Amino acid sequence: MNNSVYGLIDRARENCLSGRVMERESIIRLLELPPESEEAEYLRRRANEAAMEITGGRAYLWGAMGIDFVPCPVSCDFCSFGEKWGIVKDSRVYSNEEIVRQMSDFVQAGAHYIVIRTTEFYSIDDLCAKVRMLKERISGNYEIILNIGEFDEKEALQMWQAGVSGVYHAVRLREGTDTGLDPVVRNATMDAVRRSPLKLISLVEPVGPEHSSEEITDNFLNIIRHEASITGVMARFPVPGTPLGDRYARVSDERVAQIAAVLRLAAGTRVRDICVHPASELAISGGANVTVVELGAVPRDSKLIESEWRLFTADMGKTLFENAGYTLFS
Ligand code: SF4
Repeated sequence: MNNSVYGLIDRARENCLSGRVMERESIIRLLELPPESEEAEYLRRRANEAAMEITGGRAYLWGAMGIDFVPCPVSCDFCSFGEKWGIVKDSRVYSNEEIVRQMSDFVQAGAHYIVIRTTEFYSIDDLCAKVRMLKERISGNYEIILNIGEFDEKEALQMWQAGVSGVYHAVRLREGTDTGLDPVVRNATMDAVRRSPLKLISLVEPVGPEHSSEEITDNFLNIIRHEASITGVMARFPVPGTPLGDRYARVSDERVAQIAAVLRLAAGTRVRDICVHPASELAISGGANVTVVELGAVPRDSKLIESEWRLFTADMGKTLFENAGYTLFS
């Protein structure tokens, strides 16, 4: 037992509840704990206490549909859509009717956020038309989020006027090295969101076993600087045939849960909601209050996903939250 670590975790919880963002060195120190250790278990417990207070026990489901299963010329080293990897052979773009049906199912199943995801160069005008259509045809208390390529402030406003509530965007870990995009450009898109009425949702991703605690910390602090309203962590899935999928295994659920717990305590009250993808009991009982159900074109998989990815359904998400003491907000 290391008393100074327990003291650090206790102070982190107090600072979190008083609203302060944790300083860089403490974040790194907590991320350096062995994920299977007793200290990491204590960290998750304290993160859960903070989460319950900050969120009022509310959890949220994120229902995401990738609408275009097509090769993407950016060819990021982890993404199944990368044109260079030749994984997508039979392209498929979902019709408006299919999108309405799926999004409606997500809303019925309790997802508060419904998310349209596309490859990098999908038309923003077409997306805005789809958002207007969804607003007209699906009733309920939901928010529409887009996870798309780059755009400027004018286009951010255009999306907001169409009915988009927020945008998922991230400077990925090792952006510009493991991806075909410049981190300056990705940051500029996040700036465009920050200067618009749109919410920014941004996770530390895609986390692999090679990423250091320093890299994870700096990525997270960049998200905080961009005033995200949801942050969290997403693990990278090894897609065979992609450069990183062939080189590395997946990080463990314990490591993902530890990162979620650290981010919960590190964010203070600046970010209410912490998301984990994929979901696990460990992460949801350790500080995370948002998770993802997804299907369609999924960059973590080499096939088109016609039912939920990894068979993780909205009902399963709801059960995980309820077992951890949350109420699903929809
Ligand atoms: S991660 Fe995005 S930009 Fe990179 S290849 Fe996949 S779809 Fe294209």
